[in-house]
Parts: sequence; C-alpha cells; structure tokens
Amino acid sequence: MIIIKTEYEIELMREGGKILSKLLNHLIDLAKPGLSTLELDRFAYEFILSSGAKPSFLNYNGFPASLCISLNEVLIHGIPKENIIIKEGDTVSIDAGIYYKGYHTDAARTFTVGKVDKTITKLIDVTEKSFFEGISYAKPGNRLSDISAAIERTVVSAGFFVVREYVGHGIGRNLHEEPSIPNYGKPGNGPVLKKGMTLAIEPMVLQKSARVTTRSDGWTVAATNGLTTSHYENTIVITENDPEILTI
Ligand code: MG
Repeated sequence: MIIIKTEYEIELMREGGKILSKLLNHLIDLAKPGLSTLELDRFAYEFILSSGAKPSFLNYNGFPASLCISLNEVLIHGIPKENIIIKEGDTVSIDAGIYYKGYHTDAARTFTVGKVDKTITKLIDVTEKSFFEGISYAKPGNRLSDISAAIERTVVSAGFFVVREYVGHGIGRNLHEEPSIPNYGKPGNGPVLKKGMTLAIEPMVLQKSARVTTRSDGWTVAATNGLTTSHYENTIVITENDPEILTI
C-alpha cells in the first residue's frame, strides 16, 4: 500500500529535507584530497544529531555508518573507512538519510574532486538530468512507470546504462515504503500517482554495462567492469501540479 501523507506530515518531511540538503552541501565542501571517508561520516553523524535528527542508515539492516560513500566504480552502499582516502580525480557519491520528527528523507549527490575526463562529467550530468526528466512525469493521474521510463530514456539515449537490481522507493515513517521505483520500464504501468505520495527517486548509472558485483563486505555494490558510476537522488512529494523536491 502506498501511504498518502497529510499536509502536516509533508511539512515535517520538508523540515527534515532542509537539514539533509544542508548536510550534503557541507559534505561536498569538505570532501577534499587527503580526507578519509570515515571523517566525512563522523562529520555527518555530529551534524545530524546536532540538528535534532537521527541518521536513517546507521544500523539499518546492520549498516555500520551514517552515510554511504561510494568512490569511482562503486555505485552504492560504500562503507566509510579510515583507510579510504579521497584523492585528486576521484568521483565521490554521498548518499544520506535522516530521520526527523518521525519521518525519513533520503538524497544522494555525485561530484568530482579535481580534474576528471569529459566522459565522467557527462555521466554525472546525465544522471542528474535523468532525475529531472523522470520527475517531470511525477504528477497526479500519471503512472509510476512514466517516471521510470523517462529516466531510462534519458540515460540510454546518452549511451549509458541503468542498474536493474536497485530501485527508488516510497519514503515516510519508514525509510523504504511502497512503491518500488525502477529506473527502467515501459510507460503507462504501475500505480496511478496521487497528491501526497512521497517518493525517493534515484537514478544509478553505469558505463558500457549495467552489471554490478557486491563485494565481500556484503554491502559495497560496484560496476563489474570497474568503470566510474554515478548516483543522484532526492525525496519528492507529488502535488496538484509540479512535484516539490524536499531535499534541495
Ligand atoms: Mg534511497
């Protein structure tokens, strides 16, 4: 069942989304060569607690950190570590979720540290663009897969690939609620979108192949071919008109 949120619930998620958006901006400023991903995670933990929120990911199914930090070929669920040091030329994805006044919000950004080649800049741009193309269909009366199809169309027409095994999701009192939101599919399928649905939409994009491998830590999901990947996510709410993005 897809849970429709009341105006009051949406207002709480809006407040949470502001905290999360601020956190991600701070992390992007902080992520410089020489810093470990664990240091970023510690900053996030303190920031989230001092904002009156809790990290949604910490201890979720046993996840050991507040952030997922995924460098280069790692697509999602990278675990922050003291010995993973950011260096010049890295592509960094940071995914964060916070639990504030009873509601979760979830967002991710991918950015580069220093110079990278043009293909990586394009990969990151296309990933973001596919999110915005996707949510242009997030309106009452449309079908869920209209969003998915627009994401896939944008990514594939740019020559990239969407992951099949991982999807976006409804969000609210729980971090993961119905519906699942694939980044691929034919338009016109799935539930009819309604005002008050809150969705975490998250294109995850790869180069040359959609194949991913989970590493031996049981979390880290990386491109099997070792090429750099990208992930972009926001929590949105469906309104009468255009969707509202809660985490920018
Ligand atoms: Mg998510």
